[in-house]
Amino acid sequence: MLGQMQDWPLRVSRIIDHAARYHARRPVVTRTVEGPVARTDWASIHLRARKLAQALARLGLRKGDVVGCMAWNTARHLEVWYGVPGAGGVLHSLNPRLSHEQLTYIISHAEDGWIFCDADLAPLIAELWPGLPQAKGCIVMTDRAHMPETAPPGALCYEELIAAEDGGADWVTGDEAEACGICYTSGTTGHPKGVVYSHRSNVLHAMAMIQPDMLGFSSNDTVMPVVPLFHANGWSTGFSAPMAGASMVMPGRDLSAPSLWEMLDEGVTITLAVPTVWLMLLAHLRETGRALPHLQRVVIGGSACPKAVIEAFQKVYGVHVLHAWGMTETSPLGSFCSFKPEMAALPDDERLDQQLKAGHPPFTVELAVMDEGDEPMPWDDTSQGRLKIRGPGVVKRYLKETNDVADRESWFDTGDAATMDENGYIRITDRLKDVIKSGGEWISSIDLENMAVSHPDVSEAAAIGVPHPKWDERPILVVVPRPGAEPSKESIIETLRPHFAKWMLPDDILFVEEIPHTATGKISKLTLRKQLAEQGYTLPG
Ligand code: ADP
Repeated sequence: MLGQMQDWPLRVSRIIDHAARYHARRPVVTRTVEGPVARTDWASIHLRARKLAQALARLGLRKGDVVGCMAWNTARHLEVWYGVPGAGGVLHSLNPRLSHEQLTYIISHAEDGWIFCDADLAPLIAELWPGLPQAKGCIVMTDRAHMPETAPPGALCYEELIAAEDGGADWVTGDEAEACGICYTSGTTGHPKGVVYSHRSNVLHAMAMIQPDMLGFSSNDTVMPVVPLFHANGWSTGFSAPMAGASMVMPGRDLSAPSLWEMLDEGVTITLAVPTVWLMLLAHLRETGRALPHLQRVVIGGSACPKAVIEAFQKVYGVHVLHAWGMTETSPLGSFCSFKPEMAALPDDERLDQQLKAGHPPFTVELAVMDEGDEPMPWDDTSQGRLKIRGPGVVKRYLKETNDVADRESWFDTGDAATMDENGYIRITDRLKDVIKSGGEWISSIDLENMAVSHPDVSEAAAIGVPHPKWDERPILVVVPRPGAEPSKESIIETLRPHFAKWMLPDDILFVEEIPHTATGKISKLTLRKQLAEQGYTLPG
């Protein structure tokens, strides 16, 4: 017997319909690319997304056509976020920090036809244009007065396109399994790979994310995604915030600490970004003596979250930290370190240590730590293995590849090394390619880095393995001192010593002004290793 309930395809257009209907006047505040702070709400974003969908239909967009978008976090970007899938298109989010070569590759590979961009990014698209023969045209997300001098030939003005429509047409409908958006992995080795989210995967992921143990958004929250919408599906915020009827604050292009602080002051209750952003903000707060009066929770993910950051937010500013793990291939969020009763019962200091774990998954995500023979490892908090994941928001196959990337049991190998504890909390110990292998044992680069940045004079640290004739590899630390500080190697080793076995301590510490970062703001160990090799670095003694 089949159930006799209604068919209601899980399409993302329903999310913005819901927000506009039941949370119509909730504010969405943006620092615009043109400069001033602008205010709108879900009802207006909905109407303008409808107009945009009509305009795209008029431009000839057909179901399944891929549309590129290179834009900062703004209300207009949210309109495109819904207008494109609402017109039947597939939105390909573009990271302007990628190299020209990578951008040309991914735009061509995904076959982006129309390409949206913010006014300040139009010159970049114009530079790429000759290498994009498949591109149909560019739509610059501004009004006529702010159209940039340099843009691809025949570029259209977003506000003019919208003004010509009445928003009266319905969304394009269809199966929930249809493609909705594309994000490429950063491709540290080889070409970037396209992850194709479906309407269904985005809706289910957002529903999982608004659960209380996860992002826990409600209509009383004001959400500020500092993480760009173009990075790993925007950590679901473009879907989960309107689904919950939350307000949003969109920080635009300027992600400097003073600008972020001003936007946080718009009443933001929860904000999300990678650790480097928070290191910057905390330094700014220390220097200026400013506080965070509205903020209740801060979500930190994308790389391991240093203990010093968790401690500062919680103890100094009274802001609760949610450490999260995920990847582009998993929609992206897979786990949150929220407190189950077993953790809530711990003394403060022990609980703080537990927060270094990436946490536990929501319903719709299954996680397993497996050994090399694909056997599950014990949930003992110490056995390290490969972290695998499966669920309706996890990639099965990359765009245009012929083979599945998930195995026959649907497990996708994350490339991360992790442990699992008795309560089902994972601890990410490393990316497998970054693990330092010394004398047959594994040293976690993440643990070394985390402890190093707890030194008061260390601003950022990267631990990498350097080839060694006897031990295979030995760890070294590359350290950026805090401005004006001159920490000694010995004092850093002394900070590490109580927490590591002797053989795990770094053989050398190098001081640098800057550590290279990837296009998503993470430490680029690949570049760092290359730089050291070019400088002919060798281990001491
Ligand atoms: P990119 O390769 O562009 O950084 P992703 O955002 O997909 O793209 O990166 C996912 C990877 O980031 C994970 O596989 C993991 O190695 C790392 N990562 C994400 N969150 C955490 C975390 N909380 N702790 C440690 N590593 C993390």
